[in-house]
Amino acid sequence: MRLAAFILLLIVISSFNQPAEPMPGVPLEIAQDRAARISNLRYQLHFAIPPATAEPVSGRAVVRFDLKDASRPLVFDFGGPADALQRVTIGDRVSAARWVNEHIVIPASELKAGANEVTIEFRSSDGPLNRNAEFMYALFVPARARQAFPCFDQPDLKARYTVSLSVPAGWEALSNGAETARKGNLISFAETKPISTYLFTFAAGKFKVETAERGKRRFRMLHRETDAEKVARNREAIFDLHVGALDWLEKYTGIEYPFGKFDFLAVPAFQFGGMEHPGSIYYRASALLLDTSATQDDKLGRASLIAHETAHMWFGDLVTMRWFNDVWTKEVFANFMAAKIVSPAFPEINHDLRFLLAHYPTAYGVDRTAGSNAIRQELANLNEAGSLYGAIIYQKAPIVMRQLETIVGADAFRDGLREYLKAHEFANATWPDLIAALDPRTPEDLEAWSHAWVEQPRRPEITTELNVTDGRVERLALTQHDPVAGRGLVWSQRLKVALGYASETRLLDVALNGPSIEVIAARGLPAPSFVLPTGGGVGYGAFALDAASQSWLLAHLPDIPDPLTRGAATITLWESMLDRRVTADAMAELLVRSVAVERDEQNVQRMLNYLERAYWKFMGTRARATFAPRLEQVLRAGLTAASTSSLKSAWFSGLRDMAVTPATLQFLERVWRKEEAVPGLVLAEPDDIQLAQALAVRGVTGSDTILAEQIARTQNPDRKAQMEFVRPALSADEKTRDAFFATLKDAKNRRRETWVLEAVAYLHHPLRAAAAEKYIRPSLELVHEIQRTGDIFFPKRWADAMLSGHSTTTAAQIVRNFIEALPKDYPPRLRLVVLSSADDLFRAAR
Ligand SMILES: [Zn+2]
Repeated sequence: MRLAAFILLLIVISSFNQPAEPMPGVPLEIAQDRAARISNLRYQLHFAIPPATAEPVSGRAVVRFDLKDASRPLVFDFGGPADALQRVTIGDRVSAARWVNEHIVIPASELKAGANEVTIEFRSSDGPLNRNAEFMYALFVPARARQAFPCFDQPDLKARYTVSLSVPAGWEALSNGAETARKGNLISFAETKPISTYLFTFAAGKFKVETAERGKRRFRMLHRETDAEKVARNREAIFDLHVGALDWLEKYTGIEYPFGKFDFLAVPAFQFGGMEHPGSIYYRASALLLDTSATQDDKLGRASLIAHETAHMWFGDLVTMRWFNDVWTKEVFANFMAAKIVSPAFPEINHDLRFLLAHYPTAYGVDRTAGSNAIRQELANLNEAGSLYGAIIYQKAPIVMRQLETIVGADAFRDGLREYLKAHEFANATWPDLIAALDPRTPEDLEAWSHAWVEQPRRPEITTELNVTDGRVERLALTQHDPVAGRGLVWSQRLKVALGYASETRLLDVALNGPSIEVIAARGLPAPSFVLPTGGGVGYGAFALDAASQSWLLAHLPDIPDPLTRGAATITLWESMLDRRVTADAMAELLVRSVAVERDEQNVQRMLNYLERAYWKFMGTRARATFAPRLEQVLRAGLTAASTSSLKSAWFSGLRDMAVTPATLQFLERVWRKEEAVPGLVLAEPDDIQLAQALAVRGVTGSDTILAEQIARTQNPDRKAQMEFVRPALSADEKTRDAFFATLKDAKNRRRETWVLEAVAYLHHPLRAAAAEKYIRPSLELVHEIQRTGDIFFPKRWADAMLSGHSTTTAAQIVRNFIEALPKDYPPRLRLVVLSSADDLFRAAR
């Protein structure tokens, strides 16, 4: 701790003696004070969940703990509506506790050194409880437990929880502990191991239960899927993926699964992909229960998601970050381990290509922008923790971690992790704790490395210089440059520089550890057709290729025999387009030519994704109109020629999302009406819904009837409700859309975040963008409130969905005006969120 911070802390602590009020949220100083004083913490909780969602959930918390210093008041966290706090008792006496600024302050006179017991009766705020007519689930990450019950809402006060729930008749329930008793509608659960508040959860509802035994393990899957055939088709794979992940992690970490029972819940329209509550993981139902039209990408995505959440049982749940500034450490390990776990289950997949495509484009999506952030950030109050999450944590950090593993060596890296997990099990650790475990295992200076990659934002700009004389390489050099003025950062990294020849691609190992280096191994080699510093899918940065390599790749990309090199070159050229070294038309032209002959499904997916963005965002209306017939022809041909249903599905989605010509729209409508089939592709209910919505947003004749018919056709009640919610956003009538947009200003109408995001993307669809410009300013103004009322990913996803369809200078100007007019006290991280979401728009509007 630095001296200034220490003095500040002393001032804050000493101010507790005065009647000064604690600030709202969970300020770091309060958390540090409590962590130093409280131990041996236990919560005994009861929640009564009434059937009517209009009635509040009420409860009782008995909180037991040992206290070190009883001379000062103690602060609980508890936010909620005005009548949320009912009664506080200590022993058999009613406490004189005050409820102020989302805290319950227990006076020092009622506390004692040693064992204390505080009983609080309360009403929960609905915010984190996700209540629906037939089910509810608690989601407390990062610091929302305090809205549901009084607690010390910080990750480093781990506690044992004992829970009981009164639920409506006929409901199932689950929590972190195993169910121990059921008396009428009262369900009780066993005491948990020590876990953080953000990992504590409970859920209840009309759920179906699937069980499975696999050796020593027993699993339960709870869900609400109405399509029994779909459940039957998926269930064995889902259980097997969990077994595979658990076995792998036990072996890698040398530590048995730490939390006893293992349940998971498939939540309809869950706001995240998954959430790693120990013993009770939540998943988005559609990510787990796949349709027959699922692509290879969907299957890989499911395996990765299951591996990610399972890895969290060790990385995050067993050993937890001390404070949310290190939340990235748990996310990076979950993603990093997931990549290792998934590989053996998909031997047919090129996993280096998979790692490249799953991480680099998304990480660049933020790190290239003025809105980028460092992997490790400061965090003064947990009420801002949500804004730490994003691509830098989920995608850049695993790239950086892979670099670290390369530097340290895979075995030494694993040994260091084992030591780190063992040393901090059922407790907390920081990033410096991990670096301390790894540093002795390598001669390299990990602190300097960590400074550039972890503590600072943005990526290096790396330029290739190639001199050829008499058909041989005279000099090949790489120079890096810091895009941030005045910082002069040097990122050291290992590269595999690819040199392309007619019959092979040669990879040269290069340590780029200074501002500029020469690739000595290239001297005297025959002149290559191209040099690609991102060969092997390793190098991270904005790469400016030498002119000859760039033109060769723009002309001959499909000729490269190796799929990983093709993938790496595609990403590098796309980034070059964004940096204006390649034109959008040339890029679209290359993509449409390449995807037509691409043999690797992962590359097909990536190319279709880029093509869609180039088409809607960067080409301009006139070029798009000229390009459309040829594009659709290539997409139809790809759909026909695709050899697997997975690949067909990828092509079909591309066609559905890019189609504009009447002929193709008529084809899609016939498919939706089941008058025409796509041989080899079975469309499930969610596909039909997407197709109906795609037709509606394009304003085909009778689109209102199509939507109405699709709603009537839809069997699953959750999907039907979502579609009814989204429907006005698809209306051809601008007034209906305006009225719908106006409803989103009320937080109540934004509760189902997945629904809202889908609707917002349709409101701002490129074909409706002109009419939607008027929503941009008010939507930006909502971002701050959304951070307060929504879950962690919502502000960024809201901004992304809202700006996704826009590409004009007027739209860009609206965003710039908004940013320039921001008040000084506007949360700086939210400003970055807006800047990064607007990056494509700013570039498109140049
Ligand atoms: Zn995670």
